[in-house]
Amino acid sequence: MKIIAVSKNQKIQNIENAIKSGQYEFGENYIQESIDKITKLKKYKKIIWHFIGKLQSNKVKLVAKNFSWCQSIDRKKIAILLNQYRPIHLPPMNVLIQINISKENHKNGIYSEEECYELADCIISMPNLCFRGIMALPSITKNIIEKNIDYQEINNIFYKLKKKYHSVDTLSLGTSLDIEESLIAHSNMIRIGYAIFKN
Ligand SMILES: *Cc1c(COP(=O)(O)O)cnc(C)c1O
Repeated sequence: MKIIAVSKNQKIQNIENAIKSGQYEFGENYIQESIDKITKLKKYKKIIWHFIGKLQSNKVKLVAKNFSWCQSIDRKKIAILLNQYRPIHLPPMNVLIQINISKENHKNGIYSEEECYELADCIISMPNLCFRGIMALPSITKNIIEKNIDYQEINNIFYKLKKKYHSVDTLSLGTSLDIEESLIAHSNMIRIGYAIFKN
């Protein structure tokens, strides 16, 4: 299980403190803010940056150049652009499809299973992308029973994808709010902001 420290809105100093305690994987949501941090923290060669925010097509180039992972792919256009802009000297970018698990329309992500499989087929055909799995955000309004139904659904999709594509190994589920539930739902990557940085 991997822990991604979500460092959006965090100062460089806080990120450096996390590095000193052995945390090397960070998640960022806002492209301008993140490029600034990535530049300032270049001396830490071991850092792995994950883009987890909403992706606009005019920002894709910056993500392709500066991040190792993009967890928030939700349409073919973004996959095509990421593949196109991924620099040749870098390894293929690790990507996750974001699923709108709770079908709340203020969230990014894909709504239907069919859409997810279509997008997966598209990603698999791209040489500069490596399809690693799926990402979802929990619902903050649903009760535990409703949430478990959502987790079950996402689990089914994950195992179907894993069976079909050998590169799929990552279920990125879980934030400070639902660490335990997400681990029960077989998450193997959790994205923790508040509970690590406490502000
Ligand atoms: C902010 C954010 C997180 C972390 O949330 P916390 O409640 O601070 O743990 C995780 N995933 C995504 C996509 C986020 O935007």
